[in-house]
Amino acid sequence: MQRMGGGPMGRGFMTEEEKKNRPKVTKELLFRVFSYLRPYWKQFLLILACIAVSSLLALYPNILTGRIVDALAEKQGVDILVKLILLSLGVTIGSSLIGVGQNYLNSWIAQHITFDMRNKMYAHLQQMSQRFFTTNNQGDIITRMTSDIGGVQSVITGTFTSILSNSITLIAALTVMYQRNWMLATLGVLVIPLFVLPSRRAGKTRWELTRESQACSDEINGILNETLSVSGQMLVKLFGKEQYEYDRYKDANSRMIRLNIKESMAGRWFFMVISVFSSIGPMLLYLVGGILMMQYGQDITVGDITVMVSLLGRMYGPVNQLLNIQVEWIRSMALFTRIFEYFDLPVEIENAPDAIVPKSADGSVEFQHVNFSYDPERKILHDVSFTLQAGHSVAIVGPSGSGKSTIINLIPRLYDCQEGRVLFGGTDVKKLDLSFLRGHVGIVSQETYLFNGTIRDNLLYAKPDATEAELIAACKKANIYDFVQKQELGLDATSALDSISEAKIQEAIEPIIQTRTSILIAHRLSTILAADEILVVKDGRIVERGQHGQLVKAGGVYTELYETQFKKALETEA
Ligand code: ATP
Repeated sequence: MQRMGGGPMGRGFMTEEEKKNRPKVTKELLFRVFSYLRPYWKQFLLILACIAVSSLLALYPNILTGRIVDALAEKQGVDILVKLILLSLGVTIGSSLIGVGQNYLNSWIAQHITFDMRNKMYAHLQQMSQRFFTTNNQGDIITRMTSDIGGVQSVITGTFTSILSNSITLIAALTVMYQRNWMLATLGVLVIPLFVLPSRRAGKTRWELTRESQACSDEINGILNETLSVSGQMLVKLFGKEQYEYDRYKDANSRMIRLNIKESMAGRWFFMVISVFSSIGPMLLYLVGGILMMQYGQDITVGDITVMVSLLGRMYGPVNQLLNIQVEWIRSMALFTRIFEYFDLPVEIENAPDAIVPKSADGSVEFQHVNFSYDPERKILHDVSFTLQAGHSVAIVGPSGSGKSTIINLIPRLYDCQEGRVLFGGTDVKKLDLSFLRGHVGIVSQETYLFNGTIRDNLLYAKPDATEAELIAACKKANIYDFVQKQELGLDATSALDSISEAKIQEAIEPIIQTRTSILIAHRLSTILAADEILVVKDGRIVERGQHGQLVKAGGVYTELYETQFKKALETEA
């Protein structure tokens, strides 16, 4: 039996949606797809050779069958017969062995290409600004990284290989057939559509019926869910809709029955069509071959006709698969287009071409008339200006949503401001080397945030070059040194800890960062009191600034915050 549709039912047909979103296959796209193969061209050539050799070898037994039949018919001798049979066996084993090697190479290349793509994509995504991550669904991002790029593997191991091996098989089979007898060969070519077209038609009908019955079954489930729930039944009863719902259900159900019967009959027709047409071809070849041989005395042997028939049988599969390849090819191109779309997203925040890497930075920060918005419609920061001198610390306080995090995020360039300037160590952050800048800006987040790792990892994340003594001092300062010592592994205990210990470790991280100039969003009064200056932010503006003592007395936003938040926090802490 020949393979139908090259695999699971329907793989060879496109849905309306796929037809609508058909990708434009341009020279550039193809060039780009193949550029991923370039580093592996040697292995790729080897695969090509394997495919060519194994496809040709796989046909050879069919040709040998003809010789075997002739040897039998002409009584050429048992030794010749045995030789031919052994040869045929050997060739089969050889081509299978090459197939194994080809499979290995194939998955080797596919794995390496997806490895390259994944790494490239990951590096690219890491360059994307915060804006990208806030506006894109995380699920979509992960899908591109995992299943889309994973799909590339099957394109390489499936689509490309299938195109090559099927084309080679077809061309080789046709060449051999035409060498034997052009008339019979032409006849063979003419009967191929007789087999292929009806079976595709039947396949498509089945595929459509399956989709229709899927939709119908969804509808039935919908009715059941709607009407057999507690609230649904109540509505049905209250509005006296029993008969109406019953009719609706019965109607969908009877449609389903008709579809099911049609579907199973389409299956039957499909098998019938295939068996009739696949036997018509050989019969025609036997008939015409026989007539040519017996009535016209043409120089054809029984073996020749046998070869023709068996090669014809070998052609149906590749023809079918190549017809399906068109759809698979379009799907593959759609896949690559989606992946490349991500690669082409511009990097919003990147190093300036002449980025400066200062020998050292004093850590001072200055905001000069900064205006900022996440989207053009809504301005978030209005004319924010302040200076934070080296070695000093600033605490930013303000109501929720006032723009505290936004101000802070502009310093390490998680976003770029639209107007005004942000200076770090006296240089505009947009002109500084990004890794230098981010390596030197210390931010204490307002949320406790620890990643999975040891306590040491977490502390070192804040300051990678901290010495053991600094780490211990930090732990002592946060009163977690005893706690750390109690852990069997000390600092190398994992940080899967309860929230109290987590908060303590977070506290230990703060002083480490504070060895640098620091700017912190403060919710705890103790942190605020430790700062050299307090900036009070409201609606994206700095509305008050100064020290705790003055601000509390001023009777403004800070006083209110103090009364409503800090005092309460203090009481709870106490
Ligand atoms: P909180 O104390 O609640 O964390 P905050 O003072 O840190 O607030 P920001 O997070 O800076 O305030 O937010 C300031 C304003 O900007 C808010 O109105 C917020 O809705 C908006 N905003 C914050 N992040 C984004 C974003 N990625 N895209 C669009 N708007 C944002």
